[in-house]
Amino acid sequence: MSENSQSKASLYIVATPIGNLADMTGRAIEILKSVDLIAAEDTRHSGRLLQHFGIGTRMMSYHDFSEDYRVDSLLEKLSSGLSVALISDAGTPLISDPGYRLVVRARAAGITVVPVPGVCALTTALSVAGLPSDRFAFEGFVSSKRAARVKQFEEWLPEARTMIFYESPHRILECVEDMLTVFGPDRHVVLCRELTKTFETIHGDNLGDLLPWMQNDSNQQRGEFVVLIKGAEAPKSEEVDAEALRVLAILLEDLSVKQAASLAARITGVKKNLLYQRALQGVMAS
Ligand code: SAM
Repeated sequence: MSENSQSKASLYIVATPIGNLADMTGRAIEILKSVDLIAAEDTRHSGRLLQHFGIGTRMMSYHDFSEDYRVDSLLEKLSSGLSVALISDAGTPLISDPGYRLVVRARAAGITVVPVPGVCALTTALSVAGLPSDRFAFEGFVSSKRAARVKQFEEWLPEARTMIFYESPHRILECVEDMLTVFGPDRHVVLCRELTKTFETIHGDNLGDLLPWMQNDSNQQRGEFVVLIKGAEAPKSEEVDAEALRVLAILLEDLSVKQAASLAARITGVKKNLLYQRALQGVMAS
């Protein structure tokens, strides 16, 4: 291991590019060169990446559905002092990619798990979509079955945070159709296609216009996609009808704000806190 690395054997979770090889970090190259073993989702696919960067480290394949003995064998290697790096086909391992089982088992065994961060399609898309990014909900891949996908979208309908998911080119058109059905033509959606690659396209529009735009240009249905849906608008503050305001105004002539709001609520059925707010504002007519 190099001098920057820890002496005790560690499991390194290493991010790799999602298209543009120039996005590989110097630290990722250094770690991948110096570890004893690289666990990769697809050794043939990752072989090309390693070759590009002159990394000759031995590889073995790893999936979350790998047999237990394979996870056991990796843990034994780590426990015996060998250092291991985990990479996936692209981006950050564990983000809709293998690694979860290995990390859980390694941490439970007291092995140090070291992040070597880099590209992730999710954060790359969010950084350019122009949608609220202070809070967001990442949903991984949506269901490949239409009925289940529609149900998922229906559940997200009131979600106020930006919603983000991954989608394959085979289903992207159907998926936009389903979003239009559930969220309606006015909901804003951003499609991030082929990020960091030659045909990178970041296109945001209301669903009513987004669907024909995709249908009219089959190129826009090709490649890898991150889909971002703008969160639901907060419901407009409830209106207080004129009759409730009239009652409130009369009661305020003789009662405190609190008493008047409480009594007006009982008489009119309007929520007490709404009437209280209106009384405080002194706004007696809509
Ligand atoms: N672990 C990866 C990451 O950090 O983003 C994600 C792996 S997931 C199996 C693959 C999905 O990520 C693709 O189907 C696509 O939805 C999205 N994705 C990966 N690379 C992308 C790119 N260059 N542009 C747009 N989406 C991409």
